[in-house]
Amino acid sequence: MGGAITKVDIGHGRGWLEEQAAKSQARIDRALGHPQQITEAGRSWEQQNAHWLTFQKYGKPIALHPDTPSVHQKGRAKDTDERDVALMNDHGWFQTVYRVVNGKRTLVEPWHFEYDPARDNHRHEVVELVNDNGTWRIAPDKEWDEMATQKEMEAAFRKVVAEEVVKVVAAEVAKAVKQNARSGAYKIVGVQGPPSNPGPHMKLTGPEGETQLAPSEMHLVRRHVQATPYVSDTPWDPKSKFVTGEELFTPDEWAIVSKVLARMKPAKVS
Ligand SMILES: [Zn+2]
Repeated sequence: MGGAITKVDIGHGRGWLEEQAAKSQARIDRALGHPQQITEAGRSWEQQNAHWLTFQKYGKPIALHPDTPSVHQKGRAKDTDERDVALMNDHGWFQTVYRVVNGKRTLVEPWHFEYDPARDNHRHEVVELVNDNGTWRIAPDKEWDEMATQKEMEAAFRKVVAEEVVKVVAAEVAKAVKQNARSGAYKIVGVQGPPSNPGPHMKLTGPEGETQLAPSEMHLVRRHVQATPYVSDTPWDPKSKFVTGEELFTPDEWAIVSKVLARMKPAKVS
């Protein structure tokens, strides 16, 4: 075989064609809505030789000597019993085996089509190839894939929209917290627990009041405070830190933080 041919597996056990012919075959399959029946496509030298020997022995079907070589060996011919000739012609495939029979030019092999890319009206329609462990194949059709997974796509789209909505809401809440922080600042106060329960406890105080933090909330607020630069200028507790809302919480975290803020007791007016 000449090394110049890129053999492309046309799928469904139908063998191979040369790259341009294979891409055309993919477009034809798509136009038909199913893989076209193909008895034989590309041939190796050995396969062509077998056809040649049969032709020599029985006088049919017509076959060229493998050293010619035949168009089948070039990967630009196929034999098919599914013959929408107009569709084939539109895609650049033509019946070529004519002989003079009883004085008339006659199509003697209606199943044999050869591909001429210059006459393919669809040659500019892109078909992607994939290399599968050294074998070139037609890439799965994206349109078909998308149609097959329409529900998955819709679900993914809804998820993206929901995430965007949460982001916008979280940003608005963060902005509100930041404004509060400017006017009054939330403060985290570390408190050592009683001897029976010596672990650290935390209290969040701010313009709206104060609340004790549950252990499940502490790590979150502490992490946030650690990540937030602050100026320790509060006069009443050197350990206090400002929660400025500069850092955006994740939506899940915001659910916790907003609960904490919601249950704060009104601040004492002194
Ligand atoms: Zn043929």
